[in-house]
This record gives sequence, structure tokens and C-alpha cells, in this order.
Amino acid sequence: MGEVKGFLKYKRQEAGHRSVQQRIMDFDELDLPLAPDQLRQQAARCMDCGIPFCHGVGCPLKNCIPDVNELVYKDRWQQACELLHSTNNFPEITARVCPAPCETACTLSVSDEPVLIRHIEFQIVERGFENGWIKPQPPAEKTGKRVAIIGSGPTGLAAAQQLARAGHETVIFEKDEKIGGLLRYGIPDFKLGKHIIDRRLKQLSAEGVQFQTGVEVGEDISARYLRKMFDCVCLTMGAGKPRDLNIPGRGYENIVFAMEYLSLQNKLCCGEPVDEANIISARNKVVVVIGGGDTGSDCVGTARRQGAKKIYQLEILPKPPDTRPPDTPWPMWPRIMRTSSSHEEGCERLWSIMTKKFSGVGVRVGRLDCCKAEWFKKKGKWQIKELPDTDFALEADLVILALGFEHVMHDGLIKALDLKLDERGNIAVDNYQSSQPGIFAAGDTVNGASLVVNAINSGREAAAAIDQWLRKKS
Ligand SMILES: Cc1cc2nc3c(=O)[nH]c(=O)nc-3n(C[C@H](O)[C@H](O)[C@H](O)COP(=O)(O)OP(=O)(O)OC[C@H]3O[C@@H](n4cnc5c(N)ncnc54)[C@H](O)[C@@H]3O)c2cc1C
Ligand code: SF4
Repeated sequence: MGEVKGFLKYKRQEAGHRSVQQRIMDFDELDLPLAPDQLRQQAARCMDCGIPFCHGVGCPLKNCIPDVNELVYKDRWQQACELLHSTNNFPEITARVCPAPCETACTLSVSDEPVLIRHIEFQIVERGFENGWIKPQPPAEKTGKRVAIIGSGPTGLAAAQQLARAGHETVIFEKDEKIGGLLRYGIPDFKLGKHIIDRRLKQLSAEGVQFQTGVEVGEDISARYLRKMFDCVCLTMGAGKPRDLNIPGRGYENIVFAMEYLSLQNKLCCGEPVDEANIISARNKVVVVIGGGDTGSDCVGTARRQGAKKIYQLEILPKPPDTRPPDTPWPMWPRIMRTSSSHEEGCERLWSIMTKKFSGVGVRVGRLDCCKAEWFKKKGKWQIKELPDTDFALEADLVILALGFEHVMHDGLIKALDLKLDERGNIAVDNYQSSQPGIFAAGDTVNGASLVVNAINSGREAAAAIDQWLRKKS
């Protein structure tokens, strides 16, 4: 433990953000780091709990949070960096985008504000890169086994790094032009600059991971070829099927899915070629984002930077409470009102809203017919109904559907491999092994749309299962 009564002496201090006025002029990252003495005080707030709920309940990766905090307090940054990497392949990414379930599980949050775990992680890993502590760790010996990984999101990257370090020849196949999955084409640059991904990819390459981009497995190369050329295959293809809103008028061409919108802007940010005719811009437009979650919030931040005239974000669920509700007591993840940096930049958020119809002129939507929705329980299940006399209309020049994702795409590879699916449409697995021997699956493909931290964890666990399977086989 750093400082015995640190939690009584120091208050939580948030890391800063660039001002709204400044940051909406570009797509650069927002965070401003705390000064070293301020950060040390934040590490001193950690109580080194006998049962650290941050580590045991909050963090899916089981990061050794109290020990990391103590090392930072004692100025032993390099050891903190090594300890962080012992459980997390990409702390620079979780430090930027993780919603930090470790913080909501922190014991201090029972009566005070939690330890600033995520920002401490951010500073450790950034110091690690600055000082050259994060080096490639190639294996001492090769096993001669070959593993193909399909999809280069955080799941595939974590799995590949673990397998390469275990001595297996590892090849990632990615259908997009660049590596990273939703880290690159989903999450906007203002949350995660893409140079952060490229910096880490250099380490993976030096450890022996091979990348084949622009290759759609199932289309450009067959599942049969993969089975022949590799000892084992791991599917980390994400949960790419977006949830749709099939109401009258859905066909207008300026109603787009969030990923169509976000991926175009991410490509523009990093200078990838984009067909002019396909560019979707919110400039001078009234934008309605349907879906109140994080993807919707990313669309809000993007539309703001593109110069939208007005932005609405509609959510079908009721407005959450400001404080932890009784149905999600500590240390559980609470459903509370969250205001993202994008919301701070200006958008009108509406809750309990049902969208009933789109209408417009020609091929373009111009108006949404909506009403207030009421939630009630029937036989223990939540149901929704329209609240009478609450109809209203919103004008719109661009509608973005950010309603989440259903499951992995079912055609192509899944069919070719004849894989069993679970009742939610994800690939069914037992310890990451699918219904076909030698075909493993992990991440959003198996769990449904989730978080980066769960993806990394899933990739690491799948790699361990694959390593065990390959060694048994030989
Ligand atoms: C807009 C958006 C913002 C998000 N923001 C956050 C956030 O702030 N914090 C957070 O924790 N989580 C966030 N998430 C969720 C997080 O990004 C995902 O949970 C995570 O990326 C899943 O990782 P994955 O590797 O399983 O899949 P993905 O990242 O989806 O990667 C799958 C990859 O497989 C490739 N692929 C698919 N089929 C094939 C094929 N046949 N051949 C070759 N390649 C193929 C795809 O092109 C893709 O690159 C966000 C998600 C979205 C959509
Ligand atoms: S729960 Fe909070 S106070 Fe306790 S060890 Fe973890 S970070 Fe420190």
C-alpha cells in the first residue's frame, strides 16, 4: 500500500480534457494527463483492499490493480508497466476506451469516489513507450505449428500475440485494408488515435505475427484451404450484423447505419482513399442519432466535428437515475446516467422515445414521427407501449441508426465451416472450441457485441486453449 491514509487525505481528481471549443475543430484525442505529483496522490488513494474488488470483480483481465497503484506511488514505473502487461496485451487501448468496470467496483466508491485506475494505467503505458520499456518478446523456440486468425480486432490481435509468443507461426487474415477491426474503423480518432494501434502493431510484427490484409476468408480464400494449410483456425470476426429499424420509410438513402458513417470518417482521418460520392457528412445538417449507447455517442461527436447544425440522440429506454439504483448494488456495473465527452459538445438527448415512421421527399428522409414510450412488466418480462397523445415530429437531414449489433455475419465462412450457433446467433463454443475440431472462436463472434477489455480477455483465453490443444495434438 502506498500511503496508509491517502484515501482520507486526497480527493479524486479527473484527468483534464481539451476545451470543447478547441477539440471540436479537429479529430485529435481529448485527454490531458495529470502532472506527476497529482498522479502520485491519486495512486496514494488506493487502500490495497484485502479483497480487491477492482481486480477480482471489476476487471475482466484481472489486472493487478492494487500492486500497480503501489508501484506508481513508489515511483517504480517500469515494474508497474511490466505488471500491467502481464495481464493485458494492450493497456494503451483500454486506458483510452474502457468504461472502467474496475472503478465502479472499487471499494472506495461505496462511500466516496473510486481510485482513478484508468488514468493511472494510461500514464504507465505511455511512459513505457516513451522510455522504450515495451519491447518485442519473440519466442525462444518455434513449435512448427501454424495458426490462422480470422479478423484483426482486439480479440484477434491479443490471441495472435499470445500464440506467437508461445512459438506458433501465426497469420492474421483481415478483410479490411488495415489492421485493427473496430479499434480502427469503429472507434473515432478523438477517443483512440490510430497511431496508437500502429505503434503496437510494430511490436506484434517483430514478435513474428504475420498480417494479410484485404483478404476476406470465405470469399478470397476458402475455409478448405485454411484447414489444409494451418493446424488450427481461430475465428475472431466480430459481431458485424447491425440491428435495423424496420418501420415505414426505412428505405430513404440518408438513413444509414452507424458503422457506415463512422468508418468513412475514420478512413478520412487517416488518409485512406474514399469514393467522394460515398462520403456522408453532417455539415450544416440536422442529425438524428437513433440509439442512446456508446456507438450513438461516437456518432454525436463525429457529427459535431463535421459541423452539424443540430444533433438529437433518441433512446427508447427511460432516462437512467443519477445515482446507483438498488437493482445494481456495488460492486456491480450500474445503469446510471452517463454523459460522454461527445454529449458535452452539444446534443439534445431524448429518452423513452419510439420512432414510428420516416417520411421525406424523393429518396431523402426529412422527418421522423415519434412518440413517448412506456415500459411495464408483464409476467416478469419488460414490455413497451406507446403513451397516448404524445406524438411529435422531428425534422432531419441525416438519420444514423446506432441500435447495436445482432451477431456475427452468418453467411460465408460460418456456412462453409458448418458451425453450430447458440440461441443468440453467436458461434457456439466449449472452451473456445467450436462444433468443428480445430476451429476455435472468440470475442464478439462468441459473446455478441461487447467491450474491448472483454475482447482482449477472450483472445488471451482462446490462445491458451489453442496452445494446449496444439501441444496435446503433437
Ligand atoms: C462505434 C463503436 C465504438 C465502440 N467503442 C468502444 C469503446 O469506447 N470501448 C469499448 O470497450 N468498446 C467499444 N466498442 C466495442 C468494441 O470495439 C468491440 O467489442 C471489439 O472491437 C470487439 O473485438 P473483436 O476483435 O471481437 O471484433 P472486431 O473489432 O469487430 O474485429 C473483427 C474483424 O474481423 C474482420 N472480419 C470479419 N469477417 C472476416 C472474414 N471473413 N475474413 C477476414 N476478416 C474478417 C472484420 O473486418 C474486423 O476487422 C465499440 C464498438 C463500436 C461499433
Ligand atoms: S478496490 Fe479500489 S481501493 Fe481497493 S485495491 Fe482496488 S483500487 Fe485500491
